[in-house]
Amino acid sequence: MILFKHTKDLRFHFKKIKRKDLRIGFVPTMGALHRGHITLIEKSKKETDIAVCSIYVNPVQFNNPEDYKNYPVTIEADILMLEKSGCDILFLPGGKEIYPDENAKKKHFDIGYLETILEGKYRPGHFQGVCLVVEKLLQIVEPTHLFLGQKDFQQSLIIKKLAGLICKNLKIIIAPTLREPSGLAMSSRNLRLTDEEKDIAAELYKSLVQIKKELAPGEILALKKKFTSKLEDLGFKIDYLEIAITENLEIIESLTSTDGLIILVAAFLNNVRLIDNLLVTG
Ligand code: AMP
Repeated sequence: MILFKHTKDLRFHFKKIKRKDLRIGFVPTMGALHRGHITLIEKSKKETDIAVCSIYVNPVQFNNPEDYKNYPVTIEADILMLEKSGCDILFLPGGKEIYPDENAKKKHFDIGYLETILEGKYRPGHFQGVCLVVEKLLQIVEPTHLFLGQKDFQQSLIIKKLAGLICKNLKIIIAPTLREPSGLAMSSRNLRLTDEEKDIAAELYKSLVQIKKELAPGEILALKKKFTSKLEDLGFKIDYLEIAITENLEIIESLTSTDGLIILVAAFLNNVRLIDNLLVTG
């Protein structure tokens, strides 16, 4: 694996290897890598000629300064995991590479409805920050394939929209969420949970599975209330528990069919914010 810290060196390398006919796979991350991230690298290894991973903890996507301060950084372990996975290139930019000055943080993206709901509603400014960094990284790496995780489903939809405007032929692959045996979605933030909290955190996914089983045509308010209070009793503070149309994340209040839906949840367990989702079909 080759590690680049500067855009100009990465670009020089791409020029040297004559990237024109190569498929370049890209996995942007914020580090503190786990096996979920590695499945994206492995997918890229299978489907492209060169797998590029970036690690950059993007300050402007944190609406909560404490969350940014506490975001886990495990760079040595990350490099080892990437080496083992067969990742070809790691891009590890410093802040100035991404935001040379304050003006670089000021661009506004027209995200529309997707910015007003779910994560957008509870994390104001978050998706503007995500778009800023993703646009910059796509311009630097110029991948042919972009690998994202379903775990951040709303983010994937937004990046799809954004990427369509920047790179016309970019292929976007959304990979399933990798989970612990307990069902807990792997996440860098899980590093901040104790073993006991991890057991409780697994109840989020178990609730999603149970909601999926209990979904039936008609009003869904009672179902949402039942699981919200069940999770609250376990110690969660729920930001949202919603059922939406997968394609556009339009939140629904009643349903006629269970096809093409997604159940999404965000909740704090003590001061760690966790998100998860589950697709519902048929
Ligand atoms: P992050 O470093 O958390 O910003 O995540 C980087 C990428 O990895 C995003 O596309 C995430 O959706 C994806 N990802 C995070 N957790 C998982 C997981 N458990 N399984 C698969 N992909 C994941």
